[in-house]
Amino acid sequence: MNTTKTVENNNKKRLLIVDDDEMVGRTLQSIARRKGFEARFTCDAERFLELVEQWKPGVLAIDLVMPGMDGVEVLRRLGEKRASACVIVTSGVGHRVLDAAVRSAREHGLHIAGMLPKPFSIGDVARLLGQCDVSSSDGPAPRKQASRTCPVVDEALLLEALDRDQFHVEYQPKVRCADGSLAGFEALARWQHPELGLIPPDHFIQVAERTELMPRLTRHLFEIAIEWFSGLQAPKAGDTPLTLAVNLSARSLEREDLVGHIRRRCQRFGLQPNQLIFELTETSAMSDAVRSLDLLTSLRVAGFQLSIDDFGTGYSSMVQLVRLPFSEIKVDKSFVMSAEFSEESRTVVRSVIELGKALGLETTAEGVETEWAMDFLCAMDCDYAQGFLIARPLDGQAVQRRWNL
Ligand code: C2E
Ligand code: CA
Ligand code: CA
Repeated sequence: MNTTKTVENNNKKRLLIVDDDEMVGRTLQSIARRKGFEARFTCDAERFLELVEQWKPGVLAIDLVMPGMDGVEVLRRLGEKRASACVIVTSGVGHRVLDAAVRSAREHGLHIAGMLPKPFSIGDVARLLGQCDVSSSDGPAPRKQASRTCPVVDEALLLEALDRDQFHVEYQPKVRCADGSLAGFEALARWQHPELGLIPPDHFIQVAERTELMPRLTRHLFEIAIEWFSGLQAPKAGDTPLTLAVNLSARSLEREDLVGHIRRRCQRFGLQPNQLIFELTETSAMSDAVRSLDLLTSLRVAGFQLSIDDFGTGYSSMVQLVRLPFSEIKVDKSFVMSAEFSEESRTVVRSVIELGKALGLETTAEGVETEWAMDFLCAMDCDYAQGFLIARPLDGQAVQRRWNL
């Protein structure tokens, strides 16, 4: 029998509370006990941190505002200790501050079950404790891999990878919020290096963009994706054709006759231009603003769709949205993923969807990981959803098997 695991499981039912208000602490303690938890309470932050080490509770309830050491500092110290307990943040401060504290705790790698704004009801406490009971059984949230050694990618390595055909494409489905039906896929680049293993796009797309290789890489990935996509079964009569979304770095637009190339490939594979969506990020990185406007307008004139990716972050700004002829707006996943716990994020998601609709654009939300997020998007009348709840990016064959295509 695995004794360590058993001890951990027992600890799941241990709640440790720190709150400078004794009344609040005792109330939490008695609700938890009624829910079958062993519960201890202290008013002192240092004592709390000691008990975390000694008693090893599975659930922690932390008040944000305390004299001496505030809850933010406690969360930071827990992060340093790599605490794996399920954390509930309590406080009477406004929700913006509570939101920010929870975000920072997540950045520190803590597993946050939720917030408990004061005054709270017995039901609120019971619900959160119930959540800890279930969610902590999967262990703590995966830590951000900030310290993971990422391979040094340079132009020579990229060139070799292109020459040796080390890139492939995975496809992530996108569904209609209204009825959950499959609308299409986004093509995502993958690099399988024989020694370094799988290198994620975040580690090589930016490098490629800084070199002269981006147009070639874009063409190569487009070729793989369009060939796969054109091989899918034709839709039944009356069904809307599926779409393929391809990420287009602004740097790919600079040098060559990309639009002509795309048109010819579409004709060759018998695809309608409106089946292809080009997702554009960092549009201001285009060195020649007028030329890029011309190019993107040509794409639209030819019937292709154009999406502004990661809207609300970096360069995907209002200026770009107004300047360029987009047909779709993609709400950045950071807002969608945090919407359940953050009123600010919900407001951003709602506003971006409303803005898109007011401009006559299609709206897609990415980073949909929970039923809650899906329901929220449906209520906001968002057109499409994409995210781990529906499916992770998969290789082409797996997609065909799963959706019978
Ligand atoms: P992106 O275009 O915003 O693509 C969505 C990213 O979010 C993908 O990461 C996808 O795997 C991830 N994702 C999808 N659903 C969820 C979810 O529910 N939760 C979470 N946590 N993540 C989700 P990936 O594949 O690592 O790609 C990262 C970025 O690399 C892409 O972000 C895109 O900007 C860039 N990229 C990928 N392929 C290409 C490409 O062929 N060309 C260019 N120019 N950029 C690419
Ligand atoms: Ca994208
Ligand atoms: Ca995105």
